[in-house]
Amino acid sequence: MPILEFLGTGNAFLPQGRFHSLLLLDDSILIDCPPTALASLRRINISPRDINSILFTHWHGDHYFGFPFLILERKWISDREGNRELGIHGPSACKKRLAELCELAYPGSVGDRLDSFKWSEEEQGGVQCSPHWSFERFEVKHEIEVDPHGYIMTHESGLKFMHTGDSGPCEAISSRAGDCDVVVMEMGVPEEVDIPQHFRPSTVATLANANPETIFLVTHTWLDEPNCEREPIISNQLPQLPDNVIQVSDGDRFILNSEGLQRSNK
Ligand SMILES: [Zn+2]
Repeated sequence: MPILEFLGTGNAFLPQGRFHSLLLLDDSILIDCPPTALASLRRINISPRDINSILFTHWHGDHYFGFPFLILERKWISDREGNRELGIHGPSACKKRLAELCELAYPGSVGDRLDSFKWSEEEQGGVQCSPHWSFERFEVKHEIEVDPHGYIMTHESGLKFMHTGDSGPCEAISSRAGDCDVVVMEMGVPEEVDIPQHFRPSTVATLANANPETIFLVTHTWLDEPNCEREPIISNQLPQLPDNVIQVSDGDRFILNSEGLQRSNK
């Protein structure tokens, strides 16, 4: 059954107690690869070589700048023989962008690895190197320059969840949410920041109220972690949201099955 683990739940500014937003699926699939990705994997003792697939949502640094570190680690530490497959999905010029980033970070060092990966810019299909999953990628409402997308991930059991990537409210999300068991969504800005590129508490509430059968897992948040002892940077007071919304923390892990969504310990 699908396992969703939140390795990071913060927005680009790294609120206290949160790494950059990062979802690990079935201990082997990453949605995005933020600067804190390698730290996140170390924290739960998962080796980079055990990542079979990465699906990128868009080209903002907090969603993909961790990629060169992951590949460098596989090359020199955990997969020196290069035996492990890696499937990579992403929107436009995915391979070109990631190759440029790797070359900038470690010139001449990891480019040779990139050709051994399975790349796809298709908008739907099976997830490369993860045979239990298929996906649909769709455009969302964020900064157009970064080619923003969300994903519908469908498990072979028929269970289905959405990952919104970074987006404000839009038809692409609202029209699909009711069809999903779970929606992993961003809440990138506080209530007083009324911009179209991100959800805020009131717009999360509107979407959740319109889809009462769906569970919404809120990540990519500006909020400091309530359990963190350090002084909050902005606020650690979680807003009141509808009962079908869970505001997740780093390390939260869930199992999705036909009964619904349950918290899980490793
Ligand atoms: Zn973004």
